[in-house]
Amino acid sequence: MSILKVSRMGHPVLRKKVRPVPPAEITSGPIQRLIDDMAQTMLEYNGAGLAAPQVHEELRLFVAQVVGDHEDEEDEARKPEILALINPEIKPASRHVEEDWEGCLSIPDLRGLVPRHRDISVKAYDRTGRPIELQASGFMARVIQHETDHLDGVLFLDRMKSLESLSFIEEFARYHAKRDGE
Ligand SMILES: [Zn+2]
Repeated sequence: MSILKVSRMGHPVLRKKVRPVPPAEITSGPIQRLIDDMAQTMLEYNGAGLAAPQVHEELRLFVAQVVGDHEDEEDEARKPEILALINPEIKPASRHVEEDWEGCLSIPDLRGLVPRHRDISVKAYDRTGRPIELQASGFMARVIQHETDHLDGVLFLDRMKSLESLSFIEEFARYHAKRDGE
């Protein structure tokens, strides 16, 4: 596996609507290798998710770390599980929209408040080429919406209602980050 170069804001690949992966190609060597490399790249840079255009690949797929409420489970169960979604299609599953902080490996060192649907349902293919449908809420739903936006050339800055909250990481940590227990 390799760590891939991450594209940064300004690179045209981040502004393209990219093409679907033909389902028959999902289990091919090149796509499987791309998914493994993207997963490794995401973990290396501590991302919650990573979309193919962020590694200069014009394909509709992303990887994300699945987060659960497993704090009291054994260490083994707490290892990050990595989800790969191919050709995802999102539908809101409730009318709730929530604002929360987001960052992006392609927009280093910035954080901003972004409104997202709280609950979504997603249709996609998994990495074995199987069509799947899943429900997500809260942080996971936010990550899936952020990553799916990348496949349409949309960045989180485009989704912000106002740029007033836009902060550098250091200032974010100092003035805006939630403290433990809050
Ligand atoms: Zn991003």
